[in-house]
Amino acid sequence: MHASALVDKPSMALWKKIVIGMVAGMILGVFLGPQAEYLKPIGTLFISAIKMLIVPLVFCSLVVGVTSMKDSRKMGRVSLKAFTIYLLTTALAVAIGLVLGAVFEPGSGIHMTASAAAQEAKAAPKLVDIVLGLIPTNPVESLSSGNILQIIVFAIGLGFSLNLIGEHGEPVVKVFNGFAEAMYKLTELVMKFAPYGVFALMAWVAGKYGIDVLLPLIKVIAVVYVGCLLQMLLVYTGAITFIARLNPLPFLKGILDAQTIAFTSTSSSGTLPVSMRAAEEKLGVSKGIAGFVLPMGATINMDGTAIYQGVTALFIAQAYGIDLSMSDYITIILTATLASIGTAGVPGAGLIMLSLVLSTVGLPLEGLAIVAGIDRILDMARTMVNVTGDLMVSVLVGKSEKELDETVYYGQSENQAQR
Ligand code: ASP
Repeated sequence: MHASALVDKPSMALWKKIVIGMVAGMILGVFLGPQAEYLKPIGTLFISAIKMLIVPLVFCSLVVGVTSMKDSRKMGRVSLKAFTIYLLTTALAVAIGLVLGAVFEPGSGIHMTASAAAQEAKAAPKLVDIVLGLIPTNPVESLSSGNILQIIVFAIGLGFSLNLIGEHGEPVVKVFNGFAEAMYKLTELVMKFAPYGVFALMAWVAGKYGIDVLLPLIKVIAVVYVGCLLQMLLVYTGAITFIARLNPLPFLKGILDAQTIAFTSTSSSGTLPVSMRAAEEKLGVSKGIAGFVLPMGATINMDGTAIYQGVTALFIAQAYGIDLSMSDYITIILTATLASIGTAGVPGAGLIMLSLVLSTVGLPLEGLAIVAGIDRILDMARTMVNVTGDLMVSVLVGKSEKELDETVYYGQSENQAQR
């Protein structure tokens, strides 16, 4: 398909254009091979434009989100609900990864021997450092360096204080509201460029990882992808259907933009502007809930990463012929859940955190080198799940707080479908 076909149909819905861009990019990448590298800057341009929005958008919409919950009990309840579902779905995700890894044995047939001097792996941050790093000593620095976790803490504190000072804070809240609106608009404008960005990124990935790189590890790739699919189809649509009591189809349709951007950008933080737009405009989640739940999810809820850590830990154990005991499995579930919480929503972060899981269970860190070769391919699927999980939780919490507009959720009016 010629790329210009994407411009000539202004009436086509954006998500369709993005999917066409993705498939066309993949086909072109396979033909071009490593030459497809030349297309990458187009993708980088798009990703940079989205990244530009993250800090102001997260900051403003979180402040707006918190100030929209005047009742501090409500804020506590929403955080608790979101956090509990995030934890539960993550533990389920690792379990899915472990079961699939044990049943399909992706590492069998690959025979590795651990050398005495294990390869230096990049050190994963310590848990205590993650906790200590939550409080910014200088919030302006957190904003300029894009430290999302610190920005969340500061924005919640600011929103909370604005609530406490009542009408004195109202002009400030208005400014944040207006700023957040402008950022949503800018996201919409940047998204018009998405089909081309996605096209270029897919071409680059498909060109870089030829069949020869992928074939020996095809089993581990397939198991991670199946795990991701199961998480989305069973856990997420199950929760939407049976807990939120909603038809899951509008959910699946409404999140396509965000999923494709997550898949191609491999960054859940980077996808945040797009997922916030999807939650509000397509799924009908209130601005307050979306602005509160999604940035939190993009930072701590990484179900795809958890699946990947479960599968790859087993894969490495099998490749090195190491038997794992029941307590090792439990350790993997616990550490992978914590490690995924500590994983930043940026490309490749899960690989670094995998070293934490491997060292806790006593598996050879050299195993990381095998996985690193195909990490981008695995990152695409896991990031897509990470983002889908965040959106699912925003719907669940929105519904339970009566802050989900079902006419928007089910409506998907012509007007929305065109975006
Ligand atoms: N790339 C993932 C994300 O942004 C994190 C990971 O590497 O697992 O969600």
